[in-house]
Amino acid sequence: MPAKGQMKKETKKQVKRALKKPTSHKKQILQSPKGMHDILPGGMLVREKLYKSVKAIFEFYGFNRIETPILEMEELFTKTVGENTDIVEKEMYAIKGRGGQRLVMRPEMTASIVRSYLEHGLHRQSQPQYLYYIGPAFRHENPQAGRYRQFWQVGAEIIGGEGDPVYDAQIILIFYKLLEELKVKNITVGINSIGGAVDRQNYKKKLLEHYKDHTKEICKNCVRRMKTNPLRMLDCKNKVCRGVIEEAPIILDNLSTPSKTHFKGVLEFLDEANIPYILRPRLVRGLDYYNKTVFEIFTGEGEDSQLALVAGGRYDYLAETLGKRSTAGVGAAMGVERVLEVLEEQNPAFGTVRSKKSIYFAHVGQLAKLKSLPLLEKLRQANLPIISNLGKKSLSNQLESASKTDATLALIFGQKEVYEDNIIIRDMKTGSQETVSLEKIVKAVKKKLK
Ligand code: AMP
Repeated sequence: MPAKGQMKKETKKQVKRALKKPTSHKKQILQSPKGMHDILPGGMLVREKLYKSVKAIFEFYGFNRIETPILEMEELFTKTVGENTDIVEKEMYAIKGRGGQRLVMRPEMTASIVRSYLEHGLHRQSQPQYLYYIGPAFRHENPQAGRYRQFWQVGAEIIGGEGDPVYDAQIILIFYKLLEELKVKNITVGINSIGGAVDRQNYKKKLLEHYKDHTKEICKNCVRRMKTNPLRMLDCKNKVCRGVIEEAPIILDNLSTPSKTHFKGVLEFLDEANIPYILRPRLVRGLDYYNKTVFEIFTGEGEDSQLALVAGGRYDYLAETLGKRSTAGVGAAMGVERVLEVLEEQNPAFGTVRSKKSIYFAHVGQLAKLKSLPLLEKLRQANLPIISNLGKKSLSNQLESASKTDATLALIFGQKEVYEDNIIIRDMKTGSQETVSLEKIVKAVKKKLK
């Protein structure tokens, strides 16, 4: 322990050091959390363009938009997604509420939508309910291309009514057509059926039987999954485990007659609608709530489940898990960042959002500035696309800004114009100018924009 005097000296030194200005001129700039990104105005324009296509196709098919909270009770996901899934075991961001309850940042939205459907009695309205959403989800994953900790999902769910295979096919078709419209190339649908609860129980037994002879070769994770969630062994990327998977029995050979009939029905609808698909007998998806149909949509060969653009399936028992009677449901979610990354490569033109024709409003002098606010309001009410910088003083500064914004016209409002109740319209390309009365400004500008 240092002597008392020495301690005082040390503390003084520390205080002095703390008060000293940092020697480096480079200030550390705070950054967004790892795996979570800002979306700047340019990026927002591209997303809005994507969402426009999403809304057009979903709304045509009768889907209504829904939003649920970002925070949910933890048990919503432990009960539905499943305790022994990667998402629940290691990827959820948990927050302790003041009342002691555990809240989590939603890692996905299907469970939230079904909770909301039950909570608000949507099951008492016309069935099925067609719901779609656009929003962020959060998973504590290792960030890499196409895999983030905050990412946006566009999802669609058909809940209630008959669990008809046509709905499974319709969900697949809608996302397929959306990707096709966005000009994603080589779209592949990978599809499988994981049957009903009894089918899976029987299949798990056969799978464990097969793995019993390989316990010494397979990875530690698979040894653990043999006890906790055997179906997940089929997702393992370990080279040795892949070999064991190749030899494993497939679930399609173990389906009950109703599950088989349902699956056949889905495939028939897809065939008739000319949606190409490949059977992926080892596709199981990582969430417990699925039954019967599961699918993923990729670009390219589609062998890597890690990079699916869209993923989804049927979940007829999710509502039951939440304490209500079983309610048919099928849906899917698309990763916005993943699709945008693919578009950057395959359809770069998608990222160049053409700015709308715009008009730059310039003022000269204090009096004109004073009269500018009500005049701008008049232009807004006429739906004219105006840009202005009322804080700027000089006209040349404002016209320089106008050329940076690619404005096609500039409106110049000075003291003389205020007194004479008119304004100058300048064509930014040719430089030609015309003076029009304030009364006729909207008509004159609209004519020039044409
Ligand atoms: P899931 O909710 O796991 O079925 O995923 C649905 C879709 O969301 C996937 O096909 C991806 O496109 C996207 N997605 C899932 N996890 C992430 C992530 N960590 N980062 C970016 N996109 C993701």
